[in-house]
Amino acid sequence: MQKKESHNTICSYCGVGCGITVSKDIRGTLSVHGTEDYPVNKGMLCSKGKNLNYVAQDISDRILYPKMRWSRNHSLQKTTWDIAFKRAAAVFKSIIDKHGPDSVGFYVSGQCLTEEYYLANKLTKGFIGTNNIDTNSRLCMSSAVVGYKKTLGEDAVPISYDDIELADCFLIAGANPAWCHPILFRRLEKHKEDNPKVKVLVVDPRKTQTSALADQHLQILPGTDVILFNAIARWLIERKKIDTSFIRKYTSNFEACKQSAFQLTLKQAAYQCGITTEEIKKAAKLISNSKRFISMWTMGLNQSVIGVDKNVALLNISLLTGQLGKPGCGPFSLTGQPNAMGGREVGGMANLLAAHRDLGNSQHRKEVEDFWGGKPIKKEAGLTASEMFNALESGKLKAIWIICTNPVVSLPNARKVEAALEKANFVVVQDISHKSETTKYADLLLPAAGWLEKEGTMTNSERRISYLPKVIDPPAEAMPDVEILWRFAQEMGYKGFDYNSASEVYDEYCLMTKGTNIDISGLSYERLRKEGSFQWPVPHKLHKGTPRLFQNHDYYTSNRKAHFNAPKKLYNQSEQTNTEYPLILNTGRVRDQWHTRTKTGKVKRLLTHIPIPYLEMNKVDAFLHGLKEDDVVVVSSRRGSVRVKVKINFDIREKVVFLPMHWGKILKNDFSRANNITNDLVDPISKEPDFKYCAVKVEKYEKP
Ligand code: SF4
Repeated sequence: MQKKESHNTICSYCGVGCGITVSKDIRGTLSVHGTEDYPVNKGMLCSKGKNLNYVAQDISDRILYPKMRWSRNHSLQKTTWDIAFKRAAAVFKSIIDKHGPDSVGFYVSGQCLTEEYYLANKLTKGFIGTNNIDTNSRLCMSSAVVGYKKTLGEDAVPISYDDIELADCFLIAGANPAWCHPILFRRLEKHKEDNPKVKVLVVDPRKTQTSALADQHLQILPGTDVILFNAIARWLIERKKIDTSFIRKYTSNFEACKQSAFQLTLKQAAYQCGITTEEIKKAAKLISNSKRFISMWTMGLNQSVIGVDKNVALLNISLLTGQLGKPGCGPFSLTGQPNAMGGREVGGMANLLAAHRDLGNSQHRKEVEDFWGGKPIKKEAGLTASEMFNALESGKLKAIWIICTNPVVSLPNARKVEAALEKANFVVVQDISHKSETTKYADLLLPAAGWLEKEGTMTNSERRISYLPKVIDPPAEAMPDVEILWRFAQEMGYKGFDYNSASEVYDEYCLMTKGTNIDISGLSYERLRKEGSFQWPVPHKLHKGTPRLFQNHDYYTSNRKAHFNAPKKLYNQSEQTNTEYPLILNTGRVRDQWHTRTKTGKVKRLLTHIPIPYLEMNKVDAFLHGLKEDDVVVVSSRRGSVRVKVKINFDIREKVVFLPMHWGKILKNDFSRANNITNDLVDPISKEPDFKYCAVKVEKYEKP
């Protein structure tokens, strides 16, 4: 009889990247617990991670066989993999022959493993000959990518989770890690419990479980982050609380930062932010008194029409105070998805190339072309997430291949996304679950292997690369995504896709990083299995990884200095409220749900926290609207509406309402889908959507 076996892997939810030990008993039943000696979580797991065994074992919603339909008038019918690949290749070839390579696109996900991300990019940019490959990570952290590149020269998160226990002051902006990065937050919380002098500042228009820990909560008006960060910078400069030696030796462009910071007085800034000058001064003092200061942020800054400006304004504070390249300090963007970072590394966006190479750099393009031996790579960026669906709607894009993501629920202005998919000539959906609302639009539906059913690697928020083993077989004919991609490439007749394993794909990618700033040529599956996780770079086989970057202050910019950037816009550029749409809608996550609930929605105990979507509203606004707790309301914008129950409190600012983004179509309709009402605006550089701000009205629902 087989013994109980255990495997160490990584949680498939958020970018914290906790280690999970999966045990399989003699009947094949799975159980999970936090890996005791894994450096990220040290045995802890949050509610989502603790229930992953149920998700992995429940195959009731799984796509089991390839399915295909010959026209939109027909339903999907079971087919074979051979026919599915032949059909996909025939349609893609015919569209490319007729309309050119830019008429097709791939939309992938921060939940893809690194090997899958890498191969999808090689296929698209190197062989099909289009840069039309983008990812749902565009919706999470593309503004942070640009912010890092502008400031540090590359998309390089400088610090580690271990720096948390060394820091004495934290500024958490536009993030609720208590719910969205729970284990990271637990480390911070424990550090503060053990060291009462540690200060935490939280910037958020809402009171949250994160702000409950704060020494100071700056409850600013939505969209005023740049003004706040600039005001803090101004106070630091005026009071000479800046590190002049650091600025002189290791930075450039300080004057531009100063000029930007001095555009508004503290009084003007406080008015714009909806807080007092005393609050700004107090925050600036706490930061200036700190010896080791960490800023943390996520969607509240990134998902904005001025997301890049918010990022650079915050990064300027680390540079002003010289809090970079030393233990216990630095700017730390928290990634939302488990492998958003891995995707960034392999160039998994329409404007990136593998190993942090740039599309616009001819030398970089040549290096990649020579390595892959495919077609010349175009220097122009391809279509980004929202642009891809706009192009489908306009007819410029004819075919789209969607991998491991549910754009019908997760993209802004979702009705437009549905219309775009209706109009597409050919839609391939490669996923694990029928529950994804996007599967409805598939002409070809491909069953992918899920978590534990395939091997590969992921990188978490602190640049930590971990190996995920295959523990169980995929159900029926589900296939690892990496194999689906190489078999499609082979069917297209492309050379260089004759892999036999994910390990071969990984070895190729590691080799490609050689000599770059994210060199991981010292890694292999064998080493990751034997020695555990590593933080990049890992440039040779004896190298132990790099927990902290820039300790020698040699930044990746052209002048090797960290670069101050003046935000282009101080003021928010989102759509305006007016008398018809007088409230500002903010969207976000709740503790026990994940993205569009295709996984967490299957676990009953995760529904005990918050079972249905809701609208959070200030008591004053509720009174003015004649609403009481649990009344059903219709929330409408210029684009659409949702119908949910209202939750009333003083936690949210007046004239601001909040709606969770997870729900799609409960109640057999789409009345709860937050993205019915969000808008099409994106940051002009990062192209990240403006999910955190749109003008809405709220009315009590009256049954017809
Ligand atoms: Fe998984 Fe994130 Fe929870 Fe850790 S914190 S168990 S990675 S969801």
